[in-house]
Amino acid sequence: MRPARALIDLDALRHNYLLARERHGGRALAVVKANAYGHGAVRCALELADVADGYAVACLEEALELRAAGIRLPILLLEGVFEAAELADVERENLWMVVHHAEQARMIEQASPARPYTVWLKVNSGMNRAGFRPEEVVAAWNRLQGTGKVGEIALMTHFARADEPDVPGTAEQIATFDMATATLPGPRSVANSAGVLHWRAARRDWARPGILLYGADPLPGEPGGLRPVMTLESRIMAVREIAPGAPLGYGARFQAERPTRVGLVAMGYADGYPRTAPDGTPVSVDGRPTRLIGRVSMDMLTVDLTDLPAAGIGSRVELWGREVGINRVAASAGTISYELLCNVKRVRLEYLGGR
Ligand SMILES: *Cc1c(COP(=O)(O)O)cnc(C)c1O
Repeated sequence: MRPARALIDLDALRHNYLLARERHGGRALAVVKANAYGHGAVRCALELADVADGYAVACLEEALELRAAGIRLPILLLEGVFEAAELADVERENLWMVVHHAEQARMIEQASPARPYTVWLKVNSGMNRAGFRPEEVVAAWNRLQGTGKVGEIALMTHFARADEPDVPGTAEQIATFDMATATLPGPRSVANSAGVLHWRAARRDWARPGILLYGADPLPGEPGGLRPVMTLESRIMAVREIAPGAPLGYGARFQAERPTRVGLVAMGYADGYPRTAPDGTPVSVDGRPTRLIGRVSMDMLTVDLTDLPAAGIGSRVELWGREVGINRVAASAGTISYELLCNVKRVRLEYLGGR
C-alpha cells in the first residue's frame, strides 16, 4: 500500500475547539466548511458534537452532508442561499443562514415557511466583499423583521486583515460594525480565528473559529497553545547518490553541489503537496529536520538525506504536522496553511484518538 497518508488527531481538534471558546468566551461555531479544511467534515463534526455550540459551512450541500450523518446541532450557511429553492431545505433541516445581499432578503420575503428562519445579517464593515453597507444595515434588519418570516436576527461581520496585528483595519472594522448595529438587538459575531487569538476587542456573543481548530495560527510562526491536527506523512521508497553537478528531477531545478544522498518520497502535488515548494522547504525524516530538493512531481518528491546517514528506504517522512510546522511550509511555498490543508487529496485520512 502506498504509504502517503494524513493522520488526523481528533483529540487535538477537540482541544483546539475548547481553547478557542475559552479564549473568546460565549459560544463558538466550529467552521467545518470545505470538508473541514481537508480534515473530513463529518468525522470532525461528529467528534465535536458533544461540546460544540454549532457549526458553520459555506453552503447548503455541506450542511446536508452533516445532517445526513445525524448531526442535529445548529448549522450556519456562511454564504446563505443561492436560490429560493434552497429555502425549503433550510426550513426542513432547520439550518441558519447568513443574509449578505438584498436578493437574499427578497427570497425570504417571497417564501412561506411554516416556522421562522434564523438569520445572521452580515455587515460589510470594510472588507467590501459581502454584506450590507453600514448605512443600509438598519433598513435591511427592518426589512427582514417586517417579513414576519424570521425569528432571531444575529449580527455579524468578517475581517479582512485580522492576521496583521500592526495595521488599523481590524480596529476600524470593529468600530464600523458596532456603530452600524448600535440600535439593533440580537447576538453579535465578529471573530474568525485571528480575531479569537489576537483581537481581544473582537469578542462578542459568538466566535467563528476555522483554521485554529485545525491547529494553525493565521499569523506566521508557531501556534501558542494550539495542537496541529493533521500530520501529512509518507515514506522513503528509494535512495540514490548523485555526484556534484548532477541535476535532479523535472527541469533540473536542483543541481548537487556536493555528493548528495537523495531520498525518493511517495508524495506529490496530486496529493496536495504544493508544486510551488522550492528547494529548502522543510521536511523531517525519522524525526530529523532536512529539506526538499528538486521540483515536486505529481506522485513523488525528493529530499536531501546527505546529513542523515541512518535514514533509508522505509524511513518516515513528515511533510507537515508536529515536527514541521505547516506555517513554515506555507511561507516557503508562497501560500497559507488554509490552502495547503484544503488541497489535501488522494492520501488516506486516518483518524487517531477521539471519542
Ligand atoms: C471561513 C470563515 C470563517 C473562519 O475563518 P478562519 O480564518 O479559518 O478562522 C469565519 N467566518 C466566515 C464568514 C468565514 O467565511
